[in-house]
Amino acid sequence: MTRLRLERLTKYYGSVAALDELTLEVEPGEFLVVVGPSGCGKSTLLRVIAGLDSVTGGDIYFDHERMTDQPPQQRDVGMVFQNYALYPHMTVAENLAFPLRVRKVPKAEREERVRRVALMLGLEGLLDRLPKQLSGGQQQRVAVGRALVRSPRVFLFDEPLSNLDANLRAEMRTELATLQRQVGITTLYVTHDHIEAMTMGDRLAVVRGGRLVQVGTPEQLYRDPDDLFVATFLGTPTINTIAGVLRYTDTGAVAVSAPTAGVQIVLGAGQESLSPQRQAVTLAVRPEHVRVTGDTDADCRGIVERVEFIGHERLASIRVGGERVLMRLTDGTSIAAGETVGIRFDRSGVLLFGADGARLRLSSAC
Ligand code: ADP
Repeated sequence: MTRLRLERLTKYYGSVAALDELTLEVEPGEFLVVVGPSGCGKSTLLRVIAGLDSVTGGDIYFDHERMTDQPPQQRDVGMVFQNYALYPHMTVAENLAFPLRVRKVPKAEREERVRRVALMLGLEGLLDRLPKQLSGGQQQRVAVGRALVRSPRVFLFDEPLSNLDANLRAEMRTELATLQRQVGITTLYVTHDHIEAMTMGDRLAVVRGGRLVQVGTPEQLYRDPDDLFVATFLGTPTINTIAGVLRYTDTGAVAVSAPTAGVQIVLGAGQESLSPQRQAVTLAVRPEHVRVTGDTDADCRGIVERVEFIGHERLASIRVGGERVLMRLTDGTSIAAGETVGIRFDRSGVLLFGADGARLRLSSAC
């Protein structure tokens, strides 16, 4: 199993930095998902790792081997694209065998490896078909099989499920993630879909503007984001954000007021790194950390705009002053549109971010 190490990778197209000093390590056998909005540099990252494009600066290592200037055929990566890129005039068996034929693998071994991969991907009954005689999901399986058949050192996936419908996409997510764990090939998978990223990856690397924003397990990034961009990018529905002002109380606690929502809450003692002056902050709280409560401990009051039933939970949208707050109702709380309710933010779920988007951490809750 190969460790993939990217050191300060930089790629300019003219004056556009598609990658900007991106440093990242993918552990041997790990499934790491690079996630970020369209245009953040994901495809460029895969292309430079595969050697299809050169870097402007930085280095790529497979274990201790420097790959930065190696031609693509020396890098031994298997790549799967969004559009499958199958050879239309070749059967499934011929498509699967193609990478082995190019490498002059003897016929008997070729057939054996194609048979094994076909079995692994449930393609045994389709070997004589042409790509146009397959469904989208089957075509994508062939594309994965073709990348897998040579047992590459590194797997690179470029949004491979984007062309599939929602049900099939969910099925293929599980299938691909299971397959990767079975074969244990170090994998870098890029997507703009945060649900795909969170459900598939051992770890996620969130990228914006060619820069790495944060890397961690899906749970770490969801619960403990370092940056407002990460907090808002992950999670459905999106985390609630309210503009506020932070100041210290006479007792040294941190108070945040959000005038547009009529909210004033007192949080833990400030860390020394927090500036003692008043400062503009964004108060962020996920819908599962908002509760309906009685008047005495309510942070604010609002009018219920809408309650949506989505099976195992309900989502309520509450108008609080000039803001809208979404809350997730998993218990029997009964509220209806038009009602005025008191709501409270669970203190453990309140996150604060400074004007530059960086997380402001408090030393303790009070
Ligand atoms: P993503 O895959 O995240 O959508 P890309 O890697 O395709 O992002 O693109 C990153 C940035 O680099 C974008 O601003 C894009 O316009 C630019 N870019 C990508 N490829 C080229 C190219 N061949 N020529 C010029 N600009 C490019």
